[in-house]
Amino acid sequence: MTEELKGQLAVVTGAARGIGAAISKQLASMGATVILAARDRAKLDQVQQEIASAGGTAHAIELDLLSEESIAALGSTITMQYGRCDILVNNAGVGLLGKPLVEMSPADWDTLMGTNLRGPYLMVRALAPLMIAAKSGHIINISSLAGRNPLPNGAAYSASKWGLNGLTYSLAEELRPHNIRVSVIAPGSVDTSFGRGEPGNPRKIQPDDVARIVAMLATQAPQSFVSEVLIRPTQKP
Ligand code: NAP
Repeated sequence: MTEELKGQLAVVTGAARGIGAAISKQLASMGATVILAARDRAKLDQVQQEIASAGGTAHAIELDLLSEESIAALGSTITMQYGRCDILVNNAGVGLLGKPLVEMSPADWDTLMGTNLRGPYLMVRALAPLMIAAKSGHIINISSLAGRNPLPNGAAYSASKWGLNGLTYSLAEELRPHNIRVSVIAPGSVDTSFGRGEPGNPRKIQPDDVARIVAMLATQAPQSFVSEVLIRPTQKP
C-alpha cells in the first residue's frame, strides 16, 4: 500500500473482472477509495473483499451502462455520499466480435455502442460536474488497438473504440479550462475472458500491465496534453 492517491475517489466501470478489477486493485493499493461499478453484484463483492484484505478501501455499486437511470443513480449516490470524483475510469466494454458487419443485428449494434460509447458519455455527464466544481479530475478511457487499426469481423467494436478515441480528444479540449485531464489507453489483446476467451495466456498483455499504465497516468500532473498510451504486445499471443 502507498498513499499517492490518498483522499481521492476513483470510479471504475467494469470492475467486476478482467482489466477493470486489476485497475481497481491498483488504484486502491495507492490509497484511493475505489467505487467498483458493474452489473454482477457477487463478482463486485469479491473484488471488494480482495481489496479490503490487501488493506484498501472499495465500495461496490451496481451499474448497467445501458440504462440511463442506472448511471444517473450512481451519479447521485456518489454526489451525495462522497461529494467528489477525482478519477473516472471508463473501462467497461463488450466485443460482440466474430461476425461480418452485415450479419450483425441492429440490437447487437445498439448494445455495443450503448456500452462502449454512450456509456462513457453518460458517465462523464453524471460525474464531470463534480470535477468541474472541484477544478480538478482525470478521466481515463480504456479503448483498444482496434480503435486505431481495422478489425475484420469486429467493425462495430472497432467503430465504438474509434469513437471513444474521438470523444477523448475533444473532451480533453473541453475540460482543459477546468483543469481536468482526459486520457486514453489502447491495449492489444489482453489476457481476460473478454469475448469468448479464457484468461491464462502469459504471452498476452496482462490486466496488471494496463493497471500500471492507469497508475502512471493518475499520478501525472501536466494538464497541457492528452495522454494516449498504446500497448502493443511484443510477441504473438
Ligand atoms: P471483460 O473481462 O469481459 O470485462 C468487462 C467488464 O465490463 C465486466 O466487468 C462487465 O461486468 C462490464 N460490463 C459489460 N457490460 C456492462 C454494462 N452494460 N454495464 C456495466 N458494466 C458492464 O473484459 P476486459 O478484457 O476486462 O475489457 C475491459 C475493457 O478493455 C473493455 O472496454 C474492452 O473493450 C477493453 N479492451 C480489452 C481487450 C482484451 O483483449 N481483453 C483489449 C483491448 C481493449 P458485468 O458483466 O458484471 O456488468
